[in-house]
Amino acid sequence: MSLNVFGTLMSKVINANLCTNCGTCIGSCPVNVLYSSDAEKPTIKGRCILCQICYYSCPRVSLDIQEIEKGVFGRARNDGREMLTGIYKSAYLAKTTDPYIQSVCQDGGVATSLLKFTLENNTIDCAVATSSDAISQLKPKPTVIWNPKELLLASGARYSIGGSVGGLGEAFQSFPKGNFAFVGLPCEIQGFRKIQFSKRSNEHTSQNVALSIGIFCSKVFNYNQLIDYFSKECGDGLKDITRVEIKKGRLKALSRNKDVLVDVPVNKADQFVREGCRTCPDYTAELSDISIGAAGAPLGWSIVLTRTEAGENAFKEVCKSELLEYKPIADLKKELGLVLKLAEIKKKNIWKQVE
Ligand SMILES: Cc1cc2nc3c(=O)[nH]c(=O)nc-3n(C[C@H](O)[C@H](O)[C@H](O)COP(=O)(O)OP(=O)(O)OC[C@H]3O[C@@H](n4cnc5c(N)ncnc54)[C@H](O)[C@@H]3O)c2cc1C
Ligand code: SF4
Ligand code: SF4
Ligand code: SF4
Repeated sequence: MSLNVFGTLMSKVINANLCTNCGTCIGSCPVNVLYSSDAEKPTIKGRCILCQICYYSCPRVSLDIQEIEKGVFGRARNDGREMLTGIYKSAYLAKTTDPYIQSVCQDGGVATSLLKFTLENNTIDCAVATSSDAISQLKPKPTVIWNPKELLLASGARYSIGGSVGGLGEAFQSFPKGNFAFVGLPCEIQGFRKIQFSKRSNEHTSQNVALSIGIFCSKVFNYNQLIDYFSKECGDGLKDITRVEIKKGRLKALSRNKDVLVDVPVNKADQFVREGCRTCPDYTAELSDISIGAAGAPLGWSIVLTRTEAGENAFKEVCKSELLEYKPIADLKKELGLVLKLAEIKKKNIWKQVE
C-alpha cells in the first residue's frame, strides 16, 4: 500500500493549485522539515519520517465541516442565514479606544485590542498571528508574540498569505504548556480546526489554542505578482508603501504619511489572486471563536461576530475594560447586508478537496 506523505500532498494539492499556503502541513510536521518557499508554497528540506501527518492535516485533502461544527458549536448550522455566515451568537460594531492601536490598525483595531487585553491579563501566554517579513512590510509572516508591545507589528492587513498555522507549531515547541490565541484567515482557521478534530493529526499543534480569531477574507494576492504590479504602477514609490487597503472596490497602496501611491479598481489585480482562493467558499472565518471584518462598517469600525462562549466572553471582557467601544448590531439586514452579499458571492466558489 502506498503512503500518503508530502509527495502526495505535492501532487494532489500543491501542484493541483488547491493549496492556500495556510501552513497547516508546516505546523504539523513532527520533524520540522517543511517550510514555505519564496514561491509561497510548502516545500521540504530534510529527512521525512513518512508519518503521513502533513497529508492528513491538510484541509484541502478533506474537511468535514459538519463534524467540526458539532465539535465546536454543539450542532451543525441551520438552513437559513447560517448557510452564508456559519454559526454565530451575536453581531457587533466595535472600535478600539487606544490611540496607538488606532494609528496602526487596519479598521477598528479589534484584533489587536483583543490580543493586547488577553496578553496583559495573562488569559493567554502568547498570540500566534501574522506580521510583516523583514524584507517588506507587505510580505506576511507567521509570528509568535509574547509581549503586548510586539503586537503592533502584527496590526494592519497584508493582502497575501503567510501560513499562520505554521506559527502554532513554533509556539508549542517554545511553551508546550502555554495558552495561545490564534489569528487566521478563514482557510487558516480551517487548518487549525482540521488538526483539532482529525484523528490522524499532530494534536500538539492545536491543543493549546484558547481563542481563535478569524479575519474575514474575499481573496489574497500572490505576493511576488502584487509587488511587481505595484512597482509598475508607482515605480520607486514601491519602497514607501507601508499599507494596503481594499475599500469600495478600490485597491490602494499608501505610504506611512498616508500619501496614495497606487489607487486602481480592485478587479485590475484579479489576475494576481491565488488559485487556491478561487475554490474557497468561506468569507467570514466560519469555524473561529470570533470573527472580525470591516466591509459594510462605518469608517474606523470593525464588524464582530462572536461564535462561541470563548469568543463572546473574550469580547465582553475587553469591552468591559473600555479598551473597545461597541454597539450591538440590531438591524441585521441593514448593517450586515454587505457581509451577507459578499458571503453569498463567495459561496458560488466550488469547494474542491482531494478525498
Ligand atoms: C488578506 C486579507 C483579506 C481581507 N479581506 C476582507 C474582506 O474581504 N472583507 C472584510 O470585511 N474584511 C477583510 N479583511 C479584514 C480587514 O482588512 C481587517 O483585517 C479586519 O477588519 C480587522 O481589522 P482590525 O483593525 O480589527 O485588525 P488589526 O487590529 O489591525 O489586526 C489585524 C490582524 O490581522 C492579522 N493579519 C494581517 N494580515 C494578515 C494576513 N495576511 N493573514 C492572516 N492574518 C493577517 C494580524 O495578525 C492582526 O492580528 C481582510 C484582511 C486580510 C488580511
Ligand atoms: S493547503 Fe495548507 S495544509 Fe494543504 S498543502 Fe497547502 S499549506 Fe499545506
Ligand atoms: S515527516 Fe511526516 S509530516 Fe513531515 S513531511 Fe514527512 S510525512 Fe509529512
Ligand atoms: S480566499 Fe479563502 S483560501 Fe484565499 S486566503 Fe482567503 S480564506 Fe484563504
